[in-house]
Amino acid sequence: MKTQLPTFKYMPDPIQANIFETGELVVCDCCEQEVDIYYTGGIYAVEEVEYLCPSCIHSGLAAEKFDGEFQQDLLNPELVSNEDYTDEVLHRTPGYVSWQGNNWIAHCKDYCAFIGYVGWDELVEMGITEEVEHEHYTNEELAVSLRNNGSHQGYLFQCLECKQHILYSDFD
Ligand SMILES: [Zn+2]
Ligand SMILES: [Zn+2]
Repeated sequence: MKTQLPTFKYMPDPIQANIFETGELVVCDCCEQEVDIYYTGGIYAVEEVEYLCPSCIHSGLAAEKFDGEFQQDLLNPELVSNEDYTDEVLHRTPGYVSWQGNNWIAHCKDYCAFIGYVGWDELVEMGITEEVEHEHYTNEELAVSLRNNGSHQGYLFQCLECKQHILYSDFD
């Protein structure tokens, strides 16, 4: 691969997490360079953006040029007092694709890192079913309904400070 992949604080492994796509040559709508790692998740409320390269997201150039945000909303943003962290999540971190709009979780005093799309089976495989925390559901309920690519979809985050895994989910 020839496209540079910068390090995203809140998205540590965007290729593994299926946030960036690879395998084709496309033209970034922001810098107009040909890239082979690209983002198709778009920017909120901006219709003309089809492809973005990792660098234009990381630098903030894409959010600035198209005057949009990558996340729909922030959950518990009152935990975070550093405004630069909020700016980085909204304007310099790629969003994830969700049923009802992507909301970014905060824990301790910072936003969490997005780890990936999950169902209960993925959590079992990762060995974190005892550790994972969900605001609204018990493990028994999640085991029954949470499926990756299903109608109750899980989004796994990890707190950058205490390392706790936090599960967020929504329905189609
Ligand atoms: Zn670009
Ligand atoms: Zn924490």
